Formats: sequence, structure tokens, C-alpha cells
Amino acid sequence: MIKSIDDFNFSGKRVLIRVDFNVPLDKELNITDDIRIASSLPTINKIIKDGGIPILMSHLGRPDGQVIAKYSLKPVAEYLQNKCGYNVLFTNDCIGVDSQEIVNKAKPGDVVLLENLRFHKEEENNDIDFAKELAKLGDVYVNDAFGTAHRAHASTYQVALLFADRFCGYLIDSELKYLGEAVDNPIRPFVAIIGGAKISGKIDVINNLLSKCDYILIGGGMIFTFYKAMGLEIGKSLLESDRVEMASNLLKKAKEMNVKLLLPIDLVVADKFDNEADIKYILANEIGVDDIGMDIGEKSQELYSEIIKNAKTVIWNGPMGVFEMPNFAKGTYTIASSLAEATTNGAKTIVGGGDSAAAIKQMNFEDKVSHVSTGGGASLEYLEGKELPGIKALEV
Ligand code: AMP
Repeated sequence: MIKSIDDFNFSGKRVLIRVDFNVPLDKELNITDDIRIASSLPTINKIIKDGGIPILMSHLGRPDGQVIAKYSLKPVAEYLQNKCGYNVLFTNDCIGVDSQEIVNKAKPGDVVLLENLRFHKEEENNDIDFAKELAKLGDVYVNDAFGTAHRAHASTYQVALLFADRFCGYLIDSELKYLGEAVDNPIRPFVAIIGGAKISGKIDVINNLLSKCDYILIGGGMIFTFYKAMGLEIGKSLLESDRVEMASNLLKKAKEMNVKLLLPIDLVVADKFDNEADIKYILANEIGVDDIGMDIGEKSQELYSEIIKNAKTVIWNGPMGVFEMPNFAKGTYTIASSLAEATTNGAKTIVGGGDSAAAIKQMNFEDKVSHVSTGGGASLEYLEGKELPGIKALEV
């Protein structure tokens, strides 16, 4: 069982909270997207409301065990102070006597933010002694960093085991609720849309969802490895030649399991990998030797849309085409808009993190779906059926 922070009153407790403040910063160290901070606020506010003291810890970037100024969490401390109105105490190191002193000094109403965990290589090494140092800073532990829940690091795994009172925050709670219910208890028809660059990155997801979904709609660069397995010409489109057999096996398995694994029936192809390239709209069996497949075609968009709009549960992971180039974004746009329509029709619609989350945001449908996951890698591993170490460690 995993306990939620709603199950506890944190009054008078120092609450060590693993959050995901891995925010993008520009050259002047301004935060360019604050969604990760905003997503953590409900949990922080609940602790404060109870009369507890949040001791926040996070990583930022990849300093690889070195103290590197541009990866300091100081801009986040300033943001929490100036934009969120907290009284923030910032520590120059995430462990050690100085940090301990600041934590001891903090009063209810204050928020402590520890400096970047990854300034210590022990964090990513899941080091027990480092975890013990972190554990000294709190009476109870909360993990609300879904984005790193697929990593067994000292602050997400080892430290959790040192606390009898350990909880998931609201963000992890809602991720588990949406992803968990969709995967384990879907209302049917259950449709998965899987796109993105490569089949190798999504193979485990497709495999896992085959036993759960009614439809799997394929898009993105991985289309062409499937086409190759079907004996079609793919021109100069993206191909993973070492995955052709895998694609062939997936097609066979889908047939045996009576799951409709669909590939696009038409495409948008280009003469070069460029938004300004010459474009042709063709059927799947008309790809020329010099063509590059860039997006799913209009007929496929209609077909996929119809299936999505009639679904009751939809999971989407990965763009349908090279959506960063406007001329090849239409397939991805249509899927995003169909998800919005399915949501209006009463379906539960979930967008995996990473590129599909970026796409749905870019296309302004973010608020029109049931849930957009905050963790790319974590949601992918969840959909693969893997146990996430950061979640596992919370079990009591
Ligand atoms: P992933 O990170 O695996 O979800 O892949 C996302 C990337 O796949 C995006 O950057 C897309 O531009 C890319 N992508 C989608 N369709 C294609 C395609 N037909 N050819 C090459 N790349 C593609």
C-alpha cells in the first residue's frame, strides 16, 4: 500500500519532500517554463497548511557529481520566494552541518530548499550513506517527483526506505490514478496511439499494451520499420534495420491476440528532411526510392480520428510526424484535436510526457484532455508495465 499525504497530519513535522524542480533556464538563469514548480505547489501547500515545514530537495540538469554554478537551484529559491510568496531558506549544500542548522532554524510557515542533489555523485549512485545524510533533515518523507520515479536514486529510493512514515504527494497520486486506471482497468474501447522516432524506444510499450488495448494506432518514424517488415518500399524514410524482425513479430502477435494494430494507409513524403522540401501526398504502397516519410496522410488521420472519438479510454505517446516542422505537424495536430473531442464525449484521455506533451501544449489542447503526464521517461516505463523504483520504495 502507498499512503497519500491526505492520510496524515504533518503538524510540527519537518517534511523531506523530493520534488522535480528540473526546470529549463535561459542564459541569464531565468526560468522559462515553471510547470514543474506549479505542479508541486499543492503538496507544499498541504504541508504548510497542516503546520509542517517542507524541506524541498531536487536535481537540476546533469552536473554529474560536480558543483557547477549554472545548475544551482538558487533561481528556483528566488522564484519560490518572489513569485509564490513563500519565506524560503536556501542551503548551499543539500547535506552537512550548515544545511542541518538551517533546517533546525526553520519555523512553520518557512520553506527550506536544498541545493542540487546531483552536485553529489552519490545521489545517482543510490548511495546509502548519502541517503542517511538526507534523512537527518526530515521527520517524515514525501515523494512528489514523478519525473524521476523511474530512477532508483538516493533521494527517490534509498532515502524513502529510511522512513517509517513515507507518502506520495498529490502529483504522484494523480499520475498513478490516471495511468493506473487506464492501463489496469480501462473502460472500452481502449485505444493507444504510439508514435515518435523509433520502434526500439516503444517496443516494450507496444508489447505491454497489446494484452490490454482494443486498438493500437501507429505513427511517427517507426512506421517505416513496420512497412519494411511488410515488404513495402520505404525510400529514404527512417529505418531501424535491426528491428525489422521485431516489427514483424509484433504484427503477428497483434493478429493472434485479435488486437487491431493499425499502420497509416497514406502518408506525407518529402524529397528532403526540411520544412521547405517538395511534398507529395501518397498511399502507403506508393513510396518512391527517394521519398522520406514525414507525417501520416489525410485518410489515416480520418481513420485514426474516428477510432479515437469513439473510444472510452485513450493513451497517446509520441508524435505522428516531424511535428517540429509546420508542414509535417498536421497528423499530430489531428490526433491532439481528436483526443480533445473524445474527452468532450466522455472518454478518459491521457497524454504521455515528452514530445507528445510538448505537442499538445504547442497545439493548445493541453486543458482539453483528462491528463498530461509530467514524466516522459517515467510514464513510458509505467506503460511498459515496469515497476517504478521511486513508487515501489513508498510501499509500506
Ligand atoms: P520520441 O522521442 O521517440 O517520442 O520521438 C519524437 C521525435 O520523432 C520527434 O522529434 C519527431 O520529429 C520524430 N519523428 C516523428 N515522425 C518522424 C518521421 N516520420 N521521421 C523522422 N522522425 C520522426
